[in-house]
Amino acid sequence: MADLDTALDLAKKNGFTHAAALKPDTLILMPEVREMCSSNSCGMYDKNWSCPPGCGTLEECQQKVSSYHSGILVQTMSKLEDCFDYEAMMKLEILHKENFMKFRIVLADYYPNLLSLGAGACTLCKKCTYPDAPCRFPEKSVSSMEAYGLLVNQICTDNGMLYYYGPSTMTYTSCYLLE
Ligand code: SF4
Repeated sequence: MADLDTALDLAKKNGFTHAAALKPDTLILMPEVREMCSSNSCGMYDKNWSCPPGCGTLEECQQKVSSYHSGILVQTMSKLEDCFDYEAMMKLEILHKENFMKFRIVLADYYPNLLSLGAGACTLCKKCTYPDAPCRFPEKSVSSMEAYGLLVNQICTDNGMLYYYGPSTMTYTSCYLLE
């Protein structure tokens, strides 16, 4: 098991621009966030095992989260040319997902029972099997923080981390719960 400082150091070495310790008591699972999911603005509600309702009820998510006593928050932040710089936004999304999945493997050596909560729906398969067949890769599939009812900007603030780095920047935030 790596201590938290080592895990934070490793996060930076694995491509994240920012990393901070996460206090598990700041993880407040909110029905309001799940309601935002059900408004389906991202188009993934009820379409993927990693998203509501496929990822479990809020109570089931709470039960999973409650068994962790430490964690880390990670971010990939980038400057954009302007707020229409969609190419940079898409590159950043891909980079953050790559960082996140790569570092998950690194951390799993130290914390085999970690819970990873990413940004966006699971995209491991070209087409998710939901709801017709079980998830193809339950060990690898990752839900988003929002799917667990977590309000990302509140969690950043409560853990001394910025959520917004100023005009013409974009940031993706994810977390790992460690045990
Ligand atoms: S691993 Fe495949 S089947 Fe499982 S949630 Fe992700 S996309 Fe869906």
